Formats: sequence, structure tokens, C-alpha cells
Amino acid sequence: MQAAAFAGPRRALLRNQDGNHEALKLFTQVPARPPWYKEGWCLFRSEDAAEGARVAAFDFDKTLHHGGMAWRLSSAHIPGRLRQLHEEGYRIVIFSNQHGPGRQRTREAMQAEVRDITARFDDFASFCRVPLQIFVAAARGDVGDAFRKPNIGMWELLCSSRCSRGTLPDPALSFYVGNSAGRKTDGNDVDRQFAQRLGLKFYTEAFLTSRGA
Ligand SMILES: [Mg+2]
Repeated sequence: MQAAAFAGPRRALLRNQDGNHEALKLFTQVPARPPWYKEGWCLFRSEDAAEGARVAAFDFDKTLHHGGMAWRLSSAHIPGRLRQLHEEGYRIVIFSNQHGPGRQRTREAMQAEVRDITARFDDFASFCRVPLQIFVAAARGDVGDAFRKPNIGMWELLCSSRCSRGTLPDPALSFYVGNSAGRKTDGNDVDRQFAQRLGLKFYTEAFLTSRGA
């Protein structure tokens, strides 16, 4: 009985890992167009390697926007807030987990998925008109990829020479804002955990509506 009880979840995990492996193979075959690049299961956009110890970092979905056709309205106050932080000397960085690529099973579907994701973030960047460094973890959530929050691979990539020069980001001088904080209505607490693992001060999305929270 006991063996059977364990075999089910284990088989499911192996199946997921196989699926993820296949999807990753497709992901590596699909080109990312500049200003986007790929590193493992991470898509990132960092036009120039930026300098500076202070980082204002944000989750994307349900933190910087609320999706749907009216996302610009739900984010109307965001560009000003980000611009203000930029003027105060912060680098503005987005760390986002996305689920789409891990589900794709053909090269065409993967290509379309990567194109859609990068276009969505590009659209947001031009809406904000402020320099942004954007990191997107694209692996499935059930395989513990190093880039996927709460793992810290995206922060490490930010600190690499591909994305940073001169003064490196300093967690003690930086903060992170996300909506997955382990509250009753949150699906999980990956944003809070991500901040904790890095020693970043953590705020929920209320940071963006209450000035100076
Ligand atoms: Mg979110």
C-alpha cells in the first residue's frame, strides 16, 4: 500500500520533469530577438549593463498591472512612481515568473509564446518610458528551476557582467515589491520568500498606491 501511495506522485513528478525537459529543448531552439536574450530558462532584457547599488525591484502580474483589456488603466499611476524612483537613483527591475513556455509542445507554439511574452513586457516598458531591466523565469513551477522565484537565479543574473557594471546591486540598499505574500487570498508566498532569501526589504503591491509606504 505504502509503495503505491508514493509511486503515484513520483510518476507524476518524473512525467513533469520529462515534459519540462522537452519544453526547455524547444525554448533553447527558439530565438529571442534583441533587446531580449536568454539564459537557461530565463528571458531577460537589459539594454545596457546598468550601474548602481540601489535596486527597486517589482513582480509583474497583479503588482504592476491587473491584466485584461484595461491594464493601462489599472497601471495609470505606475509610470510616475517608477520615474520618481529612477530619479532618486534606483535601478528599476522586474522579476516575473511566467507559466506559458513550460506548457508548449511544438516549436511554433513556443515561438509564439516567447513572442507574446516579450511583446507584453515591451509594451509595458514603452508605457512607462523609464529604463527597465526585465527578467522572466519561464520554467514550469513544479521543477524547482534556479531562475524561478522563490529561487534567486534572476537576481544573480542581474548581478552578472551581462546586466551590471561598476557598482553591483546591494540587497541592503534595495527592496522588492510583490503580491504573492502568503496572505489568505494569495495563491502562494513566492514573492515574500524571494525577498527573504536575498535579504531584500519586502513590500506588497500596496507600496505602489500608498506613497512612501
Ligand atoms: Mg504577481
